[in-house]
Amino acid sequence: MEEQLSFHTELIERIDWLLRLRWLAVAGTLAAILAAYVLFPGVLPIGPMVAIVAAIAFYNLLFLLYARVLHEARVDRWQRTLSFASVQIVLDLLALAALLHFSGGVENPCAMFFVLHVIIASILLPRGMSFAVAGFASSLFAALALLEYSGLIPHYPLPGLTGLGLQQQLPYLLVNILAVVVALFAAVYMASSISGQLRARESEVVKSSKAAAARSRELEAVTSRLRRIDEERTRFMMLVSHEQRAPLNTIYSVLDLATGGYAPPEKSQEMLLRAKQRVTEMLNLINELLMLAKAREEEFKEEETELTQLADILQDVVRLMRVEAESKDLFLGVDIAPDVPPVWVNPDRIKLVWTNLLSNAIKYTEPGGIIVASLSANEGFVRGSVRDTGIGIAPEDQPNIFSDFFRARNARQMSAIGTGIGLSLVKRIIENAGGRIWLRSELGKGSEFVFELPRGA
Ligand code: ADP
Repeated sequence: MEEQLSFHTELIERIDWLLRLRWLAVAGTLAAILAAYVLFPGVLPIGPMVAIVAAIAFYNLLFLLYARVLHEARVDRWQRTLSFASVQIVLDLLALAALLHFSGGVENPCAMFFVLHVIIASILLPRGMSFAVAGFASSLFAALALLEYSGLIPHYPLPGLTGLGLQQQLPYLLVNILAVVVALFAAVYMASSISGQLRARESEVVKSSKAAAARSRELEAVTSRLRRIDEERTRFMMLVSHEQRAPLNTIYSVLDLATGGYAPPEKSQEMLLRAKQRVTEMLNLINELLMLAKAREEEFKEEETELTQLADILQDVVRLMRVEAESKDLFLGVDIAPDVPPVWVNPDRIKLVWTNLLSNAIKYTEPGGIIVASLSANEGFVRGSVRDTGIGIAPEDQPNIFSDFFRARNARQMSAIGTGIGLSLVKRIIENAGGRIWLRSELGKGSEFVFELPRGA
């Protein structure tokens, strides 16, 4: 299809060239007729010859107008363009035969212009059609010779140039016809081989330049992906260093005070406890970072799974978190629907999901608030959710909430502690298990994180 399209464009261009060439032929023939008229007055039948040249000019004008229409053509006009070229060639051959007829017939050396026409046909048309044109030209030449020989049409001699009476010598005529036929077919054979090879080479060049362009686009895409990865890595390093600096500073000052003997004994216990807490935070951060790095790897997806009751895990996690919730004066409720089927997951990962969602709810809800974790099932999925009456998430922050390291401004104000890694980890775990997670939240009123996992078979 593509090849045909480029052949079509090429054919249209060549037809333009042929149209221009024809104007030259018209001018050249007119000049020749004029010269013959001046040099050998009364020899040529000027009237019919000028009429033929005028006819050529006229159809060239019509063709020129039609070519404009074809310029906007698409591939479905391909057959029409081909017919257009063929009609021109046939008309040119007829005009040439008519001109020859009025100027000495086959005796006229200009008969070799038949060869020119079949070469033009070989450049324009597919090979088979070019041979057909050669056949047509041969027939015209033979018909001209034999019709004049038989006297069915008159012979117009060119005195001084062609008055040898060759048109009456049958053996000469037959050899002449044979030579012209061989020359015409040989010309088509050679010209169409060369133009076919050129066409094939051109289409190869077009193909390989397209392939090169496609490859360079691919390369550009890879480069920009690599650049993004590099930027993300730099951002990651900066964030991690930043997150660790604060606790390290605290630990350093505590140790500095303790080793320098500046801390009063009654305070040193409390200071060491603070340092211990900072160390715990740092360990948590490092654990989450390691987990996140692992979650990006392929093998995380292939981790062992087992048929797991989400309800059991939820109960365990709630039991562990209840103390923390109550110490913040939060109500922590659980709502588990009966007959929730098990799901194929890695139990440790799901424990992490519940822990992250619940600890966020506890962290981002003011004292006196309510937190409810629920579990239910519908046709194809098991659905878990954690709802709170906390600070909520602004609409503009919601699209970023599952991105690595993202922390909303209100969350930063409420709690300095946080990495912004938990939720992105949760999302990866749920998606790796074939599920999805989303949130509903209203600033100042509360949030609900909901996830669905496919039911185990
Ligand atoms: P972290 O809690 O360590 O900052 P997370 O990845 O767990 O990181 O959460 C990302 C952000 O999502 C939080 O910083 C906070 O802005 C927001 N967020 C998460 N859970 C809640 C919630 N229950 N209520 C309000 N905001 C929340």
